[in-house]
Amino acid sequence: MRVVVDKQVCESNALCMGVAPEIFDVPDEGPVEVLNEHPSEDMRTEAEEAARVCPVQAITIEG
Ligand code: SF4
Repeated sequence: MRVVVDKQVCESNALCMGVAPEIFDVPDEGPVEVLNEHPSEDMRTEAEEAARVCPVQAITIEG
């Protein structure tokens, strides 16, 4: 699994960090940063939930 973000469209609202703080960090001035680009398989639920809650579809889970 690989986590890809589009910083150009990120609105820095930190919803992803709220559901998957091990994977995403959103600094005060944004945009999103990926802390763990290749999370272990047991973090798939959190990663997919983060992609789902992102209002601008800035998160893609590959693989
Ligand atoms: S949920 Fe989406 S828009 Fe919000 S900080 Fe995360 S990547 Fe950016």
